[in-house]
Amino acid sequence: MKFLDEFRAPESCRRLLERIRAAASREWTIMEVCGGQTHGLLRYGIDQELGGCVRLVHGPGCPVCVTPLESIDFAITLARRDDTLLASFGDMLRVPGSRESLLQVRAATGNVRVVYSPLDAVTLAQKTPDKQIVFFAVGFETTTPATALAVQQASRLGLKNFSLLVSHVRVLPAMELLAGDPGNGINGFLAAGHVCTVGGFDTYEEFTARYKLPVVVTGFEPVDLLTGILECVEQLERHEATVANCYSRSARREGNRAALSLIDAIYEPCDRPWRGLGVVPMGGMRLRAEWAEWDAQRRFQQEMPPVAEPAECRSGEVLTGRIKPPDCECFATRCTPESPLGAPMVSAEGACAAYYRYALARRDPRTR
Ligand code: SF4
Repeated sequence: MKFLDEFRAPESCRRLLERIRAAASREWTIMEVCGGQTHGLLRYGIDQELGGCVRLVHGPGCPVCVTPLESIDFAITLARRDDTLLASFGDMLRVPGSRESLLQVRAATGNVRVVYSPLDAVTLAQKTPDKQIVFFAVGFETTTPATALAVQQASRLGLKNFSLLVSHVRVLPAMELLAGDPGNGINGFLAAGHVCTVGGFDTYEEFTARYKLPVVVTGFEPVDLLTGILECVEQLERHEATVANCYSRSARREGNRAALSLIDAIYEPCDRPWRGLGVVPMGGMRLRAEWAEWDAQRRFQQEMPPVAEPAECRSGEVLTGRIKPPDCECFATRCTPESPLGAPMVSAEGACAAYYRYALARRDPRTR
């Protein structure tokens, strides 16, 4: 298949659904790790179609959602300084901090700039030598190479007014935390195709061997998702647990070697707090010691003490698949995309936003 409409073809989807229903002898619980996949599953009503044979639970793979409050508060502190411009992707702006959002700070100070690439932030630093430019480096393995490149570029240009607020996260350690929870009830995982395109999927083999859970690499279109679910169900029915690649048009076992070596040159794994999961061992990235001068936390000598989540937002339970967004008392009442209480209602990859946008629109009884 080459064209997008082929990956959305209703007849192909119907055939895959029939095969999944025929293969499943019981209801299996499968977690899609990536928020982009959550949106695809909800948008096309796949979660409803699979009722009775597959229960889909939504994982923590939304980078905006898992960025801890203390990082957002630090970004806000920087944006409130007269000598600093905070550069960020647009979807971080509306995420509530503990007192305000970057959007509110932008309105008050004008010190927040939306950029479409970390290299745009480097250009901003070149053009604005009287300000410190801090790029809010958020995201999984998909965005880490671009921020690594930005640091290299700033170094080549000799820029002394550019740094990163690093909040990069790694998928596999979070999956290990979830799989290691005896009460999780997860029978298999759908892994994110774009993350595996960068990072490869050979690293999942040890995971499947240890936890005896299948991992299926898949994409974001309905045919991708249904093909991945079918592979997962067939493995479960055969009592197998292997890594399967259903995204071969992009993902390779060894990943993108150039991107991986760029990441490795600039970053090293570290323990990192995730919203909803707490500190995930080796769940993040930090700049290597030789690149530490580009670290905003070091440059501004700012501690980031943990900040408690607001009690009424149950994003931690949403992000670990323990509840679905409509189970939160605030869903679509006190919490909406226009007035969000938590990050999963803001982000384009957030599970709460997906339920609000798609499940409410189709009058899904679970959202009433
Ligand atoms: S619906 Fe809103 S308040 Fe509830 S978990 Fe989601 S983001 Fe938090």
